[in-house]
Amino acid sequence: MFLEPHFKGQRSGWIEVICGSMFSGKTEELIRRLKRAKIANQKVEIFKPQVDTRYDEQKVVSHDANSILSIPITHSRKLLDLSEGVSVVGIDEAQFFDQELSEVCQTLALRGIRVIIAGLDMDYLGQPFGPMPNLLAVAEYITKVHAICQHCGNLATHSFRLANNNKETIVLGEKDVYEPRCRTCYHMGNILNLQVNSEEKTTP
Ligand code: ZN
Repeated sequence: MFLEPHFKGQRSGWIEVICGSMFSGKTEELIRRLKRAKIANQKVEIFKPQVDTRYDEQKVVSHDANSILSIPITHSRKLLDLSEGVSVVGIDEAQFFDQELSEVCQTLALRGIRVIIAGLDMDYLGQPFGPMPNLLAVAEYITKVHAICQHCGNLATHSFRLANNNKETIVLGEKDVYEPRCRTCYHMGNILNLQVNSEEKTTP
């Protein structure tokens, strides 16, 4: 469990990243940390990219329906204006933001702000997702959370897309579209999908 660090002397900002696959509890962990900051009487703001319109326009909602109010924004640069006077900035679904997000977060940290970011580290192809690899490189603290593989019960690190007919990286969806899998079951699933696709092509 992540516990807030204590600093003696001059207060400085820092960056925390919570990453993992879908259904790994990233947002729950983000909400837990933000609620603790609120209990400590710190001014907290939560942002999310405009693209994510699942469930609710204004709330950061986790899969267990634990939610807090958030501000949807179209570009990471808007964080610079909207974070005036804020002690803790939370960012959810960070993988959908533009590449400037890591620069923006570093600017916020230099202003003395604690920045807590939650996001998918890999897309459904197993590739680093959007600005996440850069954020992981510049963060002071990284927490990788895991889901449970729906095939074998091991720790899941990958998001497997069940509907294989759409090649867009961003397909918003829930358990009807994605399933958490461990490395081995993810790999086996991709091989099966490839076989199914090639059989469909050869069938007249
Ligand atoms: Zn597995």
